[in-house]
Amino acid sequence: MQRFEIPGGTSGLRKCRREFPRGPWEKISFEYKQELKQIFLENQSPHGQPLCAYCEAQISSQKSHIDHVDPKGDPQFAHLTFCVENLVASCGKTNSQTCGHHKDSQVLPEWSKPYARQNAAERFRYDLDGAIVGSDDEAEEVVNMLNLNEKTLKQRRMQRINEILSMQRSLGSDAALLKMHLRDFPSLVDYLVG
Ligand SMILES: [Zn+2]
Repeated sequence: MQRFEIPGGTSGLRKCRREFPRGPWEKISFEYKQELKQIFLENQSPHGQPLCAYCEAQISSQKSHIDHVDPKGDPQFAHLTFCVENLVASCGKTNSQTCGHHKDSQVLPEWSKPYARQNAAERFRYDLDGAIVGSDDEAEEVVNMLNLNEKTLKQRRMQRINEILSMQRSLGSDAALLKMHLRDFPSLVDYLVG
């Protein structure tokens, strides 16, 4: 899991926070939500393509949502409703929920939060079938909270693993060269190619 920097350009959020210190989120207009989402998507584009803050799959403006890392529905986090440090872009709704939608009202451990991640990559490994495995109980709980082994996500990771293995056969093991061709799942890529 990669750490993201907190994006700038969100002074509108500060204004909302002054006016409505405890929300609700619905106080901001649809147009401003779209504008904000664009800011988060750009911020989460390490290789020019926006990635979900949790699963690191590619997302688009249409297929994503702004997620409250600490859930906005929980009164103990109401003061974080308009706090940029608590907002990221995450996968949109699908048939089987993942990421922010699956997390819902659950609370992630501090080390796994997108802007606070500390050595998070070291706590996960990947199997050849695309599964992500937590190396301890808490990391495994994060996988379950975000439903990171959902069928489609797992398939996409397996596809990426196979691509990496075949590229290693044709391009050799030059990590920088391999990374140039792989724009999503950066933690998986790092895990495989270093
Ligand atoms: Zn996701």
